[in-house]
Amino acid sequence: MADPVQITFLGGLGDIGRNCAAIECRGQVLLLDCGVLFPDEDMPGADFVLPDLEYLRDKADRIVGCICTHGHEDHIGALSHALERLSFPVYASRFTLGLIRNRLEERGVMDRTELKPIGDHDRLSIGAFDCEFIPVTHSVPSGLISAIRTPQGVILHSSDFKLDLNPVDGRRTDLARIGAIARDEGIRLLLCDSTNSEIPGSSRSETEVGEVLRSVLAAKAGRRLVVAAFASHIHRVQQVAEAAVAEGRKVATLGLSMKRNFALARELGLLRLPDHAVIDISEAQHHRPGEVCVVATGSQGESRSALAMAATGDSRWIQIGADDTVVLSSSPIPGNEARVAKMINNLVNRGADVVHSGSVEVHTTGHGKQDELRTLHTVADPEFFVPVHGEVRHLVAHGALAVGMGMPPARVVQARDGDQVELSADGLLNRGRVTSGDYYFVNGRLVESGPELFRDRSAIGAEGVVSVVVVLSRRDGRLLAQPRFESRGWVGGEAARELELQGADEVAAAVGRFLESGEQGGLDRVVRRAAGQFINHSTDRRPVIVPIVVEL
Ligand SMILES: [Zn+2]
Ligand SMILES: [Zn+2]
Repeated sequence: MADPVQITFLGGLGDIGRNCAAIECRGQVLLLDCGVLFPDEDMPGADFVLPDLEYLRDKADRIVGCICTHGHEDHIGALSHALERLSFPVYASRFTLGLIRNRLEERGVMDRTELKPIGDHDRLSIGAFDCEFIPVTHSVPSGLISAIRTPQGVILHSSDFKLDLNPVDGRRTDLARIGAIARDEGIRLLLCDSTNSEIPGSSRSETEVGEVLRSVLAAKAGRRLVVAAFASHIHRVQQVAEAAVAEGRKVATLGLSMKRNFALARELGLLRLPDHAVIDISEAQHHRPGEVCVVATGSQGESRSALAMAATGDSRWIQIGADDTVVLSSSPIPGNEARVAKMINNLVNRGADVVHSGSVEVHTTGHGKQDELRTLHTVADPEFFVPVHGEVRHLVAHGALAVGMGMPPARVVQARDGDQVELSADGLLNRGRVTSGDYYFVNGRLVESGPELFRDRSAIGAEGVVSVVVVLSRRDGRLLAQPRFESRGWVGGEAARELELQGADEVAAAVGRFLESGEQGGLDRVVRRAAGQFINHSTDRRPVIVPIVVEL
């Protein structure tokens, strides 16, 4: 009997983000991606969310490596945190490794790993796993599909993908190789990107966006151009830069990650531009507007990003004005719409004209739509299928798509974060939750979990905080002074001072009655209740109350 293979989903099945799976066989663990999720408004203060790495705690010495399929944060962003606790080699393409290296160096964990470059079509052993890497098109260069050979057959992981038949770098998805593996060996299990599984049709090619960008640039002759895109979207940057150079413009980068990725991509030959066409952003102001094109980060309106700072007049590098055309070559990620809208208003308010994906087609998705998913299912012809990389609605829609193509429903296995599926001679079985799948939030230098902290923060953010300090005599248990009732963010201005004095009186009275009753203990509860009742009657608000009882 061949050994069974377990796959545990540590993130990415329920959200778009924090992609991470652990594939286990014969005591060895192979990680597939290790990314972050960007927090929503229910997680105030969190920088980002990690996968459920707790599951790996007692398997630390059995991790043979981590494959990173491509350089997006939802696939590589948690590596530096994982490597603070664990140690394993990382396998990825040269470009992806370049992005990873920046992060690991920033966090000082380079000595915890070895970075192992893999090329298109490479086949190598990672521990007992025989892995082959197949080129795939996506919105970042050098994405890789992984074909992982196990005692239970081939597991094919699609990575994030679209089927771009006319990619900027000519590097197409090698469907023929997937077809050959399917024919010669058979694909036992397909794990496939579900991001756009609800959307009919096919995605537009990246090169079509290039045509639109060229016409936008041509129509804005004489004006300075500021084009914002994802810093890792090298092919988009390439198309903008090429069009700009063809019109005699110089290209400058704005934003640290754009500067870094631009340099990395040029170094690796992924971004081709003559040296004379590239200038530093500090030189941009010495050229006439019509001679400059700035490629910038901040297309999502992130408040501290280069473009958002320029939009509010806070950039030291660039002043936006009536000579500028700003192109947002992206569409807002769900949750960022309001921020992007605010940034557009700020830019327009400074006199710039703004071109965005809501008005002109200056963006295309990096994720295949239904027809592209159907093509991959047809070519791979897997025995079993688990939809991955999506919110619940995307995973369910992707499952329905496979069934709609004739796959027996029993062979489509739905899983969620924390679940483990097992591939054995009996087939593919979801064994249910083997780890909590909880969110682990990074906030500054600490990692937090559980909803309590964010409930408190939401309450403090919405209603403020009130602290009540009561000081008693240790000798006779009497009140030594009037209680101190202090608030922040509860009531505005002078009204707060007046209410705080009244609140202190109410608490003093309640404490006096309690002490006279001769009851023992529970004074902080009495203080909290008295303060709460007063706050409720006087303001009908629900600030967080912090009672502090001190004996001197
Ligand atoms: Zn992704
Ligand atoms: Zn991606």
